[in-house]
Amino acid sequence: MKRSLHFFDFGITLLVLALIAHSTFAPRSRMWGPVFSHASRHCDSVAVTFDDGPNEPYTSEILRILKTDHAHATFFLIGENALTYPGTVREILRDGNEIGNHSFTHTRLIEEGGSKMAWQVDHTQDVLEQITGVAPRWFRPPYGTRDPRLFPKTRREDLRVAEWSKMSRDWTKPGVDRIVSRTLKHLKPGDIILLHDGDNTIHGGDRSETVAALPFILAGIRARGLTPVTVSELAARSGGKYYSNRTDWRDSKPDPTE
Ligand SMILES: [Zn+2]
Repeated sequence: MKRSLHFFDFGITLLVLALIAHSTFAPRSRMWGPVFSHASRHCDSVAVTFDDGPNEPYTSEILRILKTDHAHATFFLIGENALTYPGTVREILRDGNEIGNHSFTHTRLIEEGGSKMAWQVDHTQDVLEQITGVAPRWFRPPYGTRDPRLFPKTRREDLRVAEWSKMSRDWTKPGVDRIVSRTLKHLKPGDIILLHDGDNTIHGGDRSETVAALPFILAGIRARGLTPVTVSELAARSGGKYYSNRTDWRDSKPDPTE
């Protein structure tokens, strides 16, 4: 009896650990707080997002491609990179795109103490507001990881948390064709597409594959009758409703047969 109780406890512990891991890492879990990972499936748009910049020359190349296509995107900026390229940050907004807060140094926030976590949010918000005169409305945590301490801090800065529903793992440099096909495969209205103009760090990184893939991704979005927009625009076109259900989490993973 004692022995089986032990196994029972072990099973419960495993289950709880799995639940905590999912709530922390899955882009669509809203257990720790509300998360925007996709919009209504009946809207006419998808959001295009770029993380980890600014990172030149790639951010400016991306801006040129978006402008040519009359497309808009949200750039989740690392505060320290924004200080390196303040002109690029202003350029993003001049073109009608949106900036979001992606922490100051791109650390795993769940490994930080509460005050350091707050600083990562607040200081980046201050830096971006000083550079542009505009306070970002969205926060995307580095690596998408969240825990219950994060949401009071983002709420205090009037930030909403945005994740994604579609990714190509472009940061692994899988080749232009794969970035395009992984993004467009099963793309649905309301999706939030994750791409990168930086490299998970404050040291830049080569994003030429993502830049080369972008015109094909935009063409694919248009071919499906959808409009590429910012996260705020997507939320507005979705009637302010947004979702974080987990049913199609699988869609974000690359096709194992590739
Ligand atoms: Zn990032």
